[in-house]
Amino acid sequence: MIENLFKQHEVPLWGIVSLGEIIEHTDGYSCITFCLPYDSAAVAALPDDDLMNRCKKELSERTRAVYKAIVKECSEYRFVFYDDVDKELKLREKGISQKVLAHLAGLGWIGRSSLLITSKFGPRVRLGTIFTKDDLEFKFTGHLCSGDCGDCMTCAEICPAGAISKNSYDVNKCRQIVTDARGEYRTFCGLCMQVCPQGNAINRGTLTANSPRVLAAGDA
Ligand code: SF4
Ligand code: SF4
Repeated sequence: MIENLFKQHEVPLWGIVSLGEIIEHTDGYSCITFCLPYDSAAVAALPDDDLMNRCKKELSERTRAVYKAIVKECSEYRFVFYDDVDKELKLREKGISQKVLAHLAGLGWIGRSSLLITSKFGPRVRLGTIFTKDDLEFKFTGHLCSGDCGDCMTCAEICPAGAISKNSYDVNKCRQIVTDARGEYRTFCGLCMQVCPQGNAINRGTLTANSPRVLAAGDA
């Protein structure tokens, strides 16, 4: 059922994880997580974000449509959204962000840039996350993805804020320094997304011993 739903909505990457396996006292909660890819022209135009903002708007609408379809098609379950679950379970305080859930569901690894790096699109994805308060009868995909950045330092080398290093990522540096071409504050210049070789179609599938390694499941 859920597979068909994702196919109908052209969701190329998705996974399901049981929260009870990750966080204490969350038995019964399950999380469905999925990715929609950014338009490559919008990524190529970064740090100019006019195209990207349009792309984000379109993907937000598609994400809402997928949520609506899940709630409708799986009406036997009680669905809740990240912010509501966060109020109850304090997910953010525990470091359980949407990208961490996507990682735990097998969609990718957390890269040096702190972005989720997927096998199909690298970091060029928008995430969707929805929870149920009931045990799902769907097959869990969690713990099926492993990967790391290996010796790659491409995003660290291009980052204008110096926010990325071999073993750490400083979100405050990213937020403080980045401004757009008009000098206005933004939270994301996107260069780390743009240059990641895992998001580059030419490089995907040609991994070398020093490249990030990918073993992913949950691909539709
Ligand atoms: S968005 Fe830009 S400033 Fe922030 S970490 Fe990525 S490359 Fe650095
Ligand atoms: S650019 Fe390289 S180091 Fe940065 S996230 Fe992508 S694979 Fe990892």
